[in-house]
Amino acid sequence: MRPEDFPHDIQPHLVPEPQGRLIYRCLGCGGEFGIEKLLYICPDCRSVLLLYDSAFDRLKETPGKVWRRIFDYRRMLNMPALNGIYRYHELIGPVMPIDSIVWLGEGHTPVVEASAYLQERAGARFFFKNDGQNPSASFKDRGMASALSYINYLLKYGDVDEILAVCASTGDTSAAAALYASYLYPRVKSAVLLPHKRVTPQQLSQPLGSGAMVFEIPGVFDDCMKVVEQLSENYNVALLNSKNAWRILGQESYSYEVAQFFEYDMKNRVIIVPVGNAGNITALMSGFLKFLDIGVIEDLPIIIGVQSVHANPVYQYYLEEDPERRHFEAVHVSPSVAQAAMIGNPVSMPRVIRLADQYNRMAGDRKVFVVEVSEQEIMDWHLIANRHGHVSCTHGGECLAGMVTAVKQGLIDSSHSVVLDSTAHALKFSNFQEMYFENRFPEEYGVVPKSELINAPMLVRPEDLDEVPESGKPLAGKSLDRFINRVSEEIAHRLELKKV
Ligand SMILES: *Cc1c(COP(=O)(O)O)cnc(C)c1O
Ligand SMILES: [Zn+2]
Repeated sequence: MRPEDFPHDIQPHLVPEPQGRLIYRCLGCGGEFGIEKLLYICPDCRSVLLLYDSAFDRLKETPGKVWRRIFDYRRMLNMPALNGIYRYHELIGPVMPIDSIVWLGEGHTPVVEASAYLQERAGARFFFKNDGQNPSASFKDRGMASALSYINYLLKYGDVDEILAVCASTGDTSAAAALYASYLYPRVKSAVLLPHKRVTPQQLSQPLGSGAMVFEIPGVFDDCMKVVEQLSENYNVALLNSKNAWRILGQESYSYEVAQFFEYDMKNRVIIVPVGNAGNITALMSGFLKFLDIGVIEDLPIIIGVQSVHANPVYQYYLEEDPERRHFEAVHVSPSVAQAAMIGNPVSMPRVIRLADQYNRMAGDRKVFVVEVSEQEIMDWHLIANRHGHVSCTHGGECLAGMVTAVKQGLIDSSHSVVLDSTAHALKFSNFQEMYFENRFPEEYGVVPKSELINAPMLVRPEDLDEVPESGKPLAGKSLDRFINRVSEEIAHRLELKKV
């Protein structure tokens, strides 16, 4: 719809002007810093930062009801910059002029309700939000759209000429970073660091295809992260890991979309996310808190983070009930099918601790939980979900396994409806499905295939046929007829079909 055709009271709010005053705030010493320069850690105490809008209170002057109308009407606006995460511009990047926004199709991913059969089997009412339907096939595109829009803004309006963007990755961050950086070529170039043999072939092909420089490093993600931290502290590069607070801002869009999907009624809702570097769960909490703060929603949903027993530092931390006695310790990870979350020392841990505390206080009750699941449960539920109409990756399976655990623990009951974050597309992690179906999981995963979940192609090659089509040698005439007849018979036999 054209802007002039919208209701008159909405028109002034449809296309936002740059506004607000974003600052980096240090979670260690509380120091505040301007955003003219890219910062990843506090220059004074080296803690992680978050971006805050020091003029946020202006947004509270608009009633929540009006915000809801603005966001709903923006759905009909035909303006690429506002078609993605920047539908919520005032909350995600208020200082950003529209012409700096990079939109490659991210955001507004489908929320798909599970079939009655699957809900019954899993024990709760639930939906998958398919973030694997973002352009590089994972939720990481939300954060990259924000980080690269900001970089684009610096290139346009700041005194920056060109940027080399770097990141360490368990696979999906590098795919997203390389994609968004390549759109801004030649002023932006990217380099990605991956743990050697710890990303899937699809994930490796993505940054290669986007033209990034790809470095494979021995070890696991945590080792790569140390190297890029060293690079970003000593050289002139832009860090695109979720240590970069702009990533978190963009990922808040997930919360806003979920709220909008439910017509802003978040009572008795539960959101479940896998937790690796803990950027995503940070963004979720932050997003819902902001929507609550400006009156768009009236209730905070329950948020449940899920970790595999093979990479569970956040779960371990929250095992201690008494907040005073909690103590964070990094863990050594073991191979996990939730490979993108195989992280022992999450960069965003201080953010999680701060925000979970604030979230629970605002909710007036504990609403943030972390549960743990086995590799076996992740694989089984991942496969079960996809046998019933979903395109969930192993991490989506991890969420479903987490939901089943939370139902058993009594955190979720029949009053709740649950949204599971399918953080990437199933195809990115199809090697784990293959390992399951072919029963060749290395022992260290601890996954034993269940026969009823295994599936394999069947070759149809009737023994009594002398000739079958081969490449460059098609059949014709009688031999083609015979081939078609025999193969059809064989398939009908295996399917136990009856003649009509
Ligand atoms: C990055 C990633 C995660 C983990 O998210 P964090 O923000 O690091 O906690 C989970 N699933 C997929 C598919 C990912 O790419
Ligand atoms: Zn500090």
